Amino acid sequence: MLQQLRVRPGDAANLAEREPGSTPGAPGGRAETEAATAAQLAKLSELQERLYAERRRSLLVVLQGTDTSGKDGTVRHVIRGLDPSGTRVVAFGVPTAEDLAHDFLWRVHRHVPKAGEVVVFNRSHYEDVTTVRVKELVPEDVWKARFEHINAFERLLVHGGTEIVKCFLHISEREQASRLRERADDPRKRWKLTSADLIDHGRFGDYLDAYDFAIERTSTDRSPWWIVPADHKWYRNWAVAEILVTTLSETNPHYPLVPPMPEAAALGD
Ligand code: AMP
Ligand code: MG
Repeated sequence: MLQQLRVRPGDAANLAEREPGSTPGAPGGRAETEAATAAQLAKLSELQERLYAERRRSLLVVLQGTDTSGKDGTVRHVIRGLDPSGTRVVAFGVPTAEDLAHDFLWRVHRHVPKAGEVVVFNRSHYEDVTTVRVKELVPEDVWKARFEHINAFERLLVHGGTEIVKCFLHISEREQASRLRERADDPRKRWKLTSADLIDHGRFGDYLDAYDFAIERTSTDRSPWWIVPADHKWYRNWAVAEILVTTLSETNPHYPLVPPMPEAAALGD
């Protein structure tokens, strides 16, 4: 049902032709969709418990998108359904001097999930082929060579038992303007806004081009990109929850089979 959000290997992402305000596959309008999300979160929590108990596989969720696309909101509304003991959220901001003194995957690799764990990347190594490209932080031959490294890195994780889900939260330029305006006007949101965000807003099209290019080169069978229409937050939350439930259901983690313990009879009934 949500398969139309998934970018097949080698396919173009075609962001310009996808409608950020659309709600493909939604079970209804806002109210029905929110109710369905709550049900999905319950399922997600059960699947995660099995993953944690099994301790063989793991899940890496990569959240990308332009400023105000709702990465933090997705963590708050979807990831909150998971058990904090088995989950980590890692946000990647501007690289430190120490980060920049290493290869671009160094700061990322140390945070990948261990067996049984769910890790959510709020921004990720994809900043190094999108933001870095738009802001011209490294020469073109350097960022272009990174796709090969990213694909090899993700293959390494997959071979180690990690499922990877990459979500691009797709908002429209108009919606970004409205969310930035809200940040400017609301004292409770003003802290999130910097003048760099306004400069980036002026380059919205360049960011979409960079994501188009990156997604087309890095969506694989085992590490797919999902393009989530994100102008409606209620749809975005439902779609991400649905994608995670679908992925973990396919992983189908099992409670470990442990032999019966006869001594437990001593505990009585
Ligand atoms: P925020 O998500 O609002 O906390 O902002 C984090 C900022 O860090 C964003 O402007 C990102 O574009 C920036 N950022 C994250 N990773 C990188 C990177 N590898 N190179 C340059 N800027 C980055
Ligand atoms: Mg920001």
